[in-house]
Amino acid sequence: MRSHLLNDATAESYRRSVTEGVERVAAKLASTRSPFTGVTPADLGPVIDAVDLDRPLGDSSAALDELESVYLRDAVYFHHPRYLGHLNCPVVIPAVLGEAVLSAVNSSLDTWDQSAGGTLIERKLIDWTTGRIGLGPAADGVFTSGGTQSNLQALLLAREEAKTDDLSRLRIFSSECSHFSVQKSATLLGLGHDAVVSIPVDRNKRMQSVVLAAELAACRAEGLVPMAIVATAGTTDFGSIDPLPEIAALVDEYGAWMHVDAAYGCGLLASPTRRHLLEGIERADSVTVDFHKSFFQPVSSSAVLVRDGATLRHATYHADYLNPRRTVAEQIPNQVDKSLQTTRRFDALKLWMTLRVMGADGVGQLFDEVCDLAAEGFALLAADPRYDVVVEPQLSTLVYRYIPEAVTSPEDIDRANLHARKALFASGEAVVAGTKVDGRQYLKFTLLNPETTVADIAAVLDLIAGHAEQYLGETLVHA
Ligand SMILES: *Cc1c(COP(=O)(O)O)cnc(C)c1O
Repeated sequence: MRSHLLNDATAESYRRSVTEGVERVAAKLASTRSPFTGVTPADLGPVIDAVDLDRPLGDSSAALDELESVYLRDAVYFHHPRYLGHLNCPVVIPAVLGEAVLSAVNSSLDTWDQSAGGTLIERKLIDWTTGRIGLGPAADGVFTSGGTQSNLQALLLAREEAKTDDLSRLRIFSSECSHFSVQKSATLLGLGHDAVVSIPVDRNKRMQSVVLAAELAACRAEGLVPMAIVATAGTTDFGSIDPLPEIAALVDEYGAWMHVDAAYGCGLLASPTRRHLLEGIERADSVTVDFHKSFFQPVSSSAVLVRDGATLRHATYHADYLNPRRTVAEQIPNQVDKSLQTTRRFDALKLWMTLRVMGADGVGQLFDEVCDLAAEGFALLAADPRYDVVVEPQLSTLVYRYIPEAVTSPEDIDRANLHARKALFASGEAVVAGTKVDGRQYLKFTLLNPETTVADIAAVLDLIAGHAEQYLGETLVHA
């Protein structure tokens, strides 16, 4: 069994196995004709059930053969131009190369003595990111598993900086379109169930700063503590960016912690043409970025950045076996002192390889392309009488719904749109997402693939209209 351990003696087998795996995936990517096969859990369940984990196949070729039917054949492929569903991106090759290297070397970024250069590479990328944001000389941060963890850590720091023992008095302000991880974090941080004050959005799905101002005044009048204001720079549904300068001004007035959730919008940091959309982000106390959304990185790659690196001490705990107190005095760089995780992937290497090969402009141009595509898609939808489109996109999402020509009930329209989404998924021809707007069922394109064309969008809109019309036709016949 030692032949399966990766070391000097098995280098040749490592090379062969990984090459074989890479070749299969490359062949798969080349032969994929649709983003999905439409397989159902009922179809695939028995295939996975039939695998006996106590009877190993013994070699990687056999395991790869098996992988074809249990995974590769029916996976959802984000590189396909008609995958328009969630915030998943096709990945860039330098990042995938980084992924292969980091898992083989298997550094763990908790302490210097488990990562050495990896720690310094991560630190340099944190500095690069805080530099792009403009957080100033004392800024710092750490890579995390995703935006959810980044938001949790940012709000932990905000809670500690609020300096009150009465957690029931703390309030977090975020827009009604903010990510649900804000609410989840509040619960995990022991705040009350009414801790998150939801601020309504305007027509363009951006936080109404006038209402925020009123809510902050009410909070103060009631003797409550405004712990944090969470501005979203790229809402998950609409890609809308809250008015950051106006929010920053209110933060100054009320002394709260300003967190900017740029999980989605962070791609603008590298954009050669759209960086100005993030104006005001430099005034944040903390920022969430998801490189695995708009930097074309494989999952996972995310970071939380802070203006004042000293605040990261709220996540610092010492263990004699890992990062004893003396290591601080000895200036040994242990990233675990800044992280909620202990053992931690060297995800930073993927971004490193990306920047070293393509440069920031290269990545930013890809994000620009999908934002341009969204603008064209908006024009298409706005001119199409079959569809109602919600807002002109600032980033790369389009939220819309099919509206039948004949008069039907609002419930029928909801059901027709939901049916269209499900039917499309079952056909595998394209994948789109769904959401609700004012209680009604809508559909959503999240455009993150520069290979997607306006013609793809038009073709998918025709498919959706076809499914919706068919549904309504059948419903009317049976009614
Ligand atoms: C995706 C997203 C998150 C959560 O990030 P994960 O990486 O999925 O944990 C948080 N905030 C916003 C605005 C997001 O779009």
